Amino acid sequence: MDQFGAGTVTVRRDGEVAIVVIDNPPVNAGSHAVRRGLLDAFAAVREMSGIEGVVLAGAGGTFVAGSDLKEFGAPLGEPQLPSVIAAIEELPVPVVAALDGAALGGGFELSLGCDGRVAAPGTMVGLPEVSLGIVPGAGGTQRLPRLAGLPESLKLICSARRLPAEEALKLGLIDEIAGDDLRGAAGRLARRLGGKRRVRDRAVPPSDPDAVAAAKREALKTGKHRPAALEAARLVELSATTSVAGALIEERRVFQDIRLSAEAVALRHIFFAEREAGRVSGLAAKPRDIRRIAVIGAGTMGVGIAYALLRAGCDVALVELNPEALARGRERIAGLVSDDAAKGRIGEAAVAGMMGRLSASSDLDAASTADLVIEAVFEDMGVKAKLLCDLDRIVPPQTILASNTSYLDLDSLAGASGRPDRVVGLHFFSPAHVMKLLEVVRGAATSDETLATGLALGRKLKKTAIVAGVGEGFVGNRLYAAYRGQAEMLVEDGALPWQVDAALEAFGMAMGPFAVSDLSGLDIAWARRKRLAATRDPAERYVRLPDMLCEAGRLGRKTGAGWYRYDGGERRPDPDVERLILDEAAAAGRTRRPVPDAECRDRPLAALVNEAALALDEGIAQRPGDIDVAFVNGYGFPRWFGGPLWWAAHEGRSAVLAALPQVKAAAGAGFRRGKVEALLTDIAG
Ligand code: NAD
Repeated sequence: MDQFGAGTVTVRRDGEVAIVVIDNPPVNAGSHAVRRGLLDAFAAVREMSGIEGVVLAGAGGTFVAGSDLKEFGAPLGEPQLPSVIAAIEELPVPVVAALDGAALGGGFELSLGCDGRVAAPGTMVGLPEVSLGIVPGAGGTQRLPRLAGLPESLKLICSARRLPAEEALKLGLIDEIAGDDLRGAAGRLARRLGGKRRVRDRAVPPSDPDAVAAAKREALKTGKHRPAALEAARLVELSATTSVAGALIEERRVFQDIRLSAEAVALRHIFFAEREAGRVSGLAAKPRDIRRIAVIGAGTMGVGIAYALLRAGCDVALVELNPEALARGRERIAGLVSDDAAKGRIGEAAVAGMMGRLSASSDLDAASTADLVIEAVFEDMGVKAKLLCDLDRIVPPQTILASNTSYLDLDSLAGASGRPDRVVGLHFFSPAHVMKLLEVVRGAATSDETLATGLALGRKLKKTAIVAGVGEGFVGNRLYAAYRGQAEMLVEDGALPWQVDAALEAFGMAMGPFAVSDLSGLDIAWARRKRLAATRDPAERYVRLPDMLCEAGRLGRKTGAGWYRYDGGERRPDPDVERLILDEAAAAGRTRRPVPDAECRDRPLAALVNEAALALDEGIAQRPGDIDVAFVNGYGFPRWFGGPLWWAAHEGRSAVLAALPQVKAAAGAGFRRGKVEALLTDIAG
C-alpha cells in the first residue's frame, strides 16, 4: 500500500483493480492535502501495469462529507478540485466511486467526475453549496444536469437538498446500491464498464421548456432568490446551451468570486458558530445515560417536547393533572406520529414502536422511574416550585430535573427542588418538535454532569443548543424583548404595526414583531408584564397598547384578532387598531410624527444588539456566535446575514450606531447602553 498527501490518500491493488482510499478523519473533508494526495495517487495508478479499473472510496464509513470550508476564506492552494477531477477523467481506465456515509458538495462533485457511482444503502448525496452562499465549483452545475436533466438539477442545487442514495438511483445520479461489499461492487462495475464513460461527454437530456421554467421558479423560491441560487440556476441552464469546457470555466469563475462575497462569509460564520454553540470550555463531565424521560404538563409545549423525544427513540411518560388535557395531549401526539407515517417518513412498525414507548398518566408517580424529568407546566413560580419539590420526593436521587420555563428564575426553582445541582433549564421553542433552537440554562448550582446531560439530550434531539446563564428571559427572550419593545415604541411615536413589520420583513426577518406576537399569543407577554409590574421603575417608558389589546380580548391569531385582524387566516391591517393607537397617543399627550421605514428597521435591530452587548458582559450569553445562532434558529433572523451580531459588525454597523441614540432617547429613563462599539469591533476582527 502506498500513501500520498501526508497520508490522507492510500493506493493498493486488488488484482486488476486499483483501490484509492481517502482517509482524512473525521469526515474525509476535501482539504488541500487530500487533493494533493489524490493527484499523486492517480499518477501512481498510471504507473501500475495491468490495471483495468479504479475504485475511489473513503475510509471510516464516509466518502467525502464536503470540502474543508476553513480553506474557503483565502486563496485556494493548488491543486484545486477541478484538476483532481480532470486527472480522473484523463486516466485511461474507468474510475468508480464507492459512496458511503455522505458524499456532499465537493465530495459529490468528485464522484460525478468518475465513470460510475455505487452507493451503500442510506448514503446521503447532494450539492448543498447554495446554503453556504456559494455555487458548486467543480462541475456540479454541469455534470448533474447531464445525469438528472435540467428540472431536477435546478431544484436539487438551488434547494441545497441532500437526498438518500435510493432516490439518487431513481434520478440516475448513481448506478447501483451495493449490498455488503461496497468496494467489491464498485470494482466489478469498473470492470464491467470496460472503458471510460465520462459524465461530461454526455448530452444534457432534452426537457420540456415549460417544465424547466416551472422548476426554475420553484428552485429560486426555495433558494429565496439569494445571489447564490440565482447564479446556480443560471449555470445549470448554461449546461444545455454552452460547450461543457466553456461552462466549466464560467462555473469556476463564479465560484471563485462568490466564495469571497459578504454573504458567503456570513454563512460560513453561522455554519461554524452552530458547530461551536453547544461547547463549554472546561466542561469535561460525561453526560448521564438517559433512557426514560417524564414530561410534566401536556399543553402546547409538553406535547411538542414529548413527541420530539419519542422521535429520538426515548421512552416517555407524559404526566398531566387535567385528565381532559391529558387525553387531548395524547391524541395530538398520536396525530403527529400518524402524520409522519402518512408522509412516508416512518413505517407502520415505527408508528407502533413510538406509541408503545409513550405512557400517559395524571399521577405524578408515573415519573418515579425517570432518568430525566422535563416540566412544562404553567409559567407560575408557585406551581413550578411545588412540582419540583414533589418530584424530589418521588424520583431517584440521581434523576435530573429540567424546567422549560421561559422567564422564571431557575435558581429559585432549583432551590425549591432540594437537588439544585441536578436542575437545569431546557428552554424549547414553540413548536418544540419543529424549532431547532434549544437554550440549555446553567443555574448557579447546576453540576457539570447535569449541564453535559442537557447538552447531550439536545444533540440526541438534533437541536442546535446554546448555553445560557440565569437572568430574566435568558438569552433569546431577553434580547427579543428589547427588540420588540422598540417596535412597540415606534408605534406610539408615529409608525403603524404593519409599517414596522413590513420594514423588518423587507430586511429579511421571517415575520415582523407584531405578526410574531399575534402568532404566539399576546397573553404570554401580558402575563409577564403583570408579574413584573410591582418592580417596574415608574419612570420607565411603558407602552400600554399591547395591554389594551389583551383587555379587549384581542390575543392574536387564536382569537381572530390582535395587532392585525385575521379573515380566513390571512392577516390584515385593522382600522380599529389604528384608531386605538391614535386615541392612546392623544390621551398620553404624545405628538405622533411620520417615522421613516429605515428607522422602523434600525431601532429594533439596534436595541437587540445593545441588549446582546449587555448579556455578553454579564456572562448570560457565552459568546457572540451563540446569539447569532439563537436568532437564526429561533427567531427568524435572516441566515444570510450571519445573525444579528455578525450583521451589525459588518453591513449593519453604521445603521446600528446611528440608531442607538434614537433607541436611548425613545426608551428614556432606565435605558442601559452596552459596549456596542467594542463588541462589534471585536467581532469584525
Ligand atoms: P400550557 O398552558 O399550554 O400547558 C401547561 C399544561 O400544564 C396544562 O395542560 C396544565 O393543565 C398542566 N399543568 C399545570 N400544572 C400541572 C402540574 N402540577 N402537574 C401536571 N400538569 C400540570 O402552557 P405551555 O404554553 O405549554 O407552556 C408550558 C411552559 O413552557 C411554560 O413554562 C412556558 O413559559 C414555557 N414555554 C412556552 C412557550 C410557548 O410558546 N408556549 C415557549 C417556550 C417555553
